[in-house]
Amino acid sequence: MRLRGLLVGTVTAALALSMTACGDKGNDAGTNPPVNTEAKFDEGTTMATLQKAGKVTIGTKFDQPLFGLKGLDGKPAGFDVEIGKLIAAKLGISADKIEWVETPSKIREEVIEQGKVDFVVATYTINDKRKERISFAGPYYEAGQDLMVKKDSDIAGPEALKAANAKVCSVTGSTPAEKIKQYVDAANIVLFDVYSKCADALRTGQVQAVTTDNVILLGLIDASKGDFKLVGKPFTKEPYGIGIEKGDTKFCEFIHKTLSESSAEYEKAWKDTAGKVAPETPKLPTLATCS
Ligand code: GLU
Repeated sequence: MRLRGLLVGTVTAALALSMTACGDKGNDAGTNPPVNTEAKFDEGTTMATLQKAGKVTIGTKFDQPLFGLKGLDGKPAGFDVEIGKLIAAKLGISADKIEWVETPSKIREEVIEQGKVDFVVATYTINDKRKERISFAGPYYEAGQDLMVKKDSDIAGPEALKAANAKVCSVTGSTPAEKIKQYVDAANIVLFDVYSKCADALRTGQVQAVTTDNVILLGLIDASKGDFKLVGKPFTKEPYGIGIEKGDTKFCEFIHKTLSESSAEYEKAWKDTAGKVAPETPKLPTLATCS
């Protein structure tokens, strides 16, 4: 086992609580997939090490309704959380033996490299730049970058942002924060560490749009109780992967086997979380080759 336990990130508890109060969709969800007590793994693999330890540390988001939102019980809930629980269950580890670590976008590679988590499930787009530092299993879902605006806004797509002289909010270290530079002058891009702060800035009129993946925005829109809307014109592809230590091919292959064999759990996980707002249950995308 590597060094564990450092709490990563500093989103205030107040923020997490207020998000929960506004739009808690997740904490009644809990698919609790059957724990594989019979699992057998080769000595020396990450799977064997974790199984022996009987616990696992997983990085996820704490402020993203539907994917990873920390509830009043102190535990995160959402689709990413369910994917994490599924992997843990196949390792023989029950949900109550998972330590969840808040992992904002910017520090995901870092926490994996430093061994502060065993893996990251956090709306984490697979791309080559990130693969220089870590490896990915998956993809387990494909999102697309979009825009969230106030319900009376005329902004109809990224091309309209410049003409409207709109300030656009995103998160440091995210792929949307990079991509939006093609559409908006740098002076009009506002970056925070987490998306819930962007939602607050939209509410108070400090920015005119928030950009990130459509499914993250759907969660924030649901929590806004009608104040915000999705523009609904996704302009990128964001395949979500599970971040693991670079080169841990055996762990990646184990995660792929888990995902391929768990279509019922995958569907239930979606229906109990993101499916409440995005009812069309996705199909597991074609998994990439582990490297
Ligand atoms: N999927 C994008 C990314 O990994 C945006 C979502 C996020 O920041 O978590 O950067």
